[in-house]
Amino acid sequence: VLKIHLIRKGNFMDWDDYIEFGKKALHWGSNYRKSIRNYPVRSQLEPGHVYNSIPDLPPENPEKLDDIFEDFKTKIIPGITHWQHPRFFAYFPSNAAPASVFAEMLANTMGSQCMLWQTSPAATELEEKIIDWLRIGMGLPSGFKGVIQDTASSATLTAVLTMREKSLDWTGNKTGLSGRSKLRIYASEEVHSSIDRAIWFSGIGEDNLVRIPVHGDLRSMDPELLKKAIQKDKQDGHMPAGIIAATGGTSSGSCDNISVIADIAAKENLYLHVDAAWAGSAMICSEYRYLWQGIEKADSIVFNPHKWLGAQFDCSVQFLKDPSIQKNTLSISPEYLKTKGVDGITNLSDYTIQLGRRFRSLKLWFLIRSEGMSGLKKVIRNHVKWTENLHDRMKNLSNVEIITPPILSLFTFRFIKNGSSNIDEINEKILAEINNEGKIYLTPTKVKNNYVIRFTAGTFEMEEADIEVAYNCIREKSESLNK
Ligand code: PLP
Repeated sequence: VLKIHLIRKGNFMDWDDYIEFGKKALHWGSNYRKSIRNYPVRSQLEPGHVYNSIPDLPPENPEKLDDIFEDFKTKIIPGITHWQHPRFFAYFPSNAAPASVFAEMLANTMGSQCMLWQTSPAATELEEKIIDWLRIGMGLPSGFKGVIQDTASSATLTAVLTMREKSLDWTGNKTGLSGRSKLRIYASEEVHSSIDRAIWFSGIGEDNLVRIPVHGDLRSMDPELLKKAIQKDKQDGHMPAGIIAATGGTSSGSCDNISVIADIAAKENLYLHVDAAWAGSAMICSEYRYLWQGIEKADSIVFNPHKWLGAQFDCSVQFLKDPSIQKNTLSISPEYLKTKGVDGITNLSDYTIQLGRRFRSLKLWFLIRSEGMSGLKKVIRNHVKWTENLHDRMKNLSNVEIITPPILSLFTFRFIKNGSSNIDEINEKILAEINNEGKIYLTPTKVKNNYVIRFTAGTFEMEEADIEVAYNCIREKSESLNK
């Protein structure tokens, strides 16, 4: 017994050591998060640096955890872009509020695989309850149920597969798509690339994603053009299968007119999925719900609590008006997964592509309880207010042009220089300078084919002073264009 113990101790950390190292990790984590403003937001390493710093061969013999931990600090941390940095204004945020980190530690320690009710009843039942908490918190009607997915990309893929199967009367999974009329899916020209990929992976094919031009202040897909596209497809012998609308598009926050689009979907008997991956979190504040007015008419809605609600990555909630449609598309029950003798249970893997499921509701439970809905709303309202203030001040800067005004906490702008024709290049160069300086982190996009810079606020620990740093950074760059 002693011998076996010694061998095991060499290879696996002992559970007594776990306390010792756990303390070290917690101390490191707490100091890291408290001093995170001292780091450049975006990693400043050259490509290949981390790869070349790691030995080419795995160790044959056990190494000390202290040494591994030391290497983590010296080799890995410099190659980290600090998503929790309060001056991370790039992409969309990916928050990890302390309570959700703590819950994730507990979930990881248990290491449960929650594919079926019986593989951890608590995980399924807590998930059902949390979905309901969020539904109520976001003002959705009581019919909606849902499921927690890893990412919005997965949720959108399940929605597209559901559109496909529903329109083919659930025969596509069995016989495939060949020899049939072309299935057609409609979305605005501003939707996220995860929609393209869902169309690829579902076998529908990118040529059958019909991109409807946008119009109006919120850059919604034009409902008249949507109607025309559907009619034309029907005349051409194609089979309209579904619509994907967006609340809070990635480039500039565009919001489709859900109410009008949902009415078209209902009239044409089309399944409607709404991608609110980023903006969905803001819907816990009733004053922003005008952005998705009519949402109760959607069939499927995805939003990512891992973006703006504070839950650690990954955590994506998909609400479903009639879950049985998605279950009919995805559920499969071989003998080894059957749950015998238990009635009235839900197996949440019936609603997802992956069979295996992490215990994701735990971090939402800890987060919502520890912050309270009021705490979460306050964070989001501050981000929106501070972004609007920054936008209002930037409007008055010389050499800065606002391209799209704020939708929630996102707006786009670019630097301009009198008499210059290479505006895109100037912006690329200035953006690289800003990100290399490391005080703030911004990322670009294209609006009307012009290279523009996005600003979006969303990190949980951000303060108003962090916006001031962003303002000064941008002001200095705009002044430098006068020289
Ligand atoms: N939809 C929108 C509007 C997004 O902004 C993003 C990512 O930023 C996605 C979908 C994809 O999200 P995920 O990484 O969860 O798949």
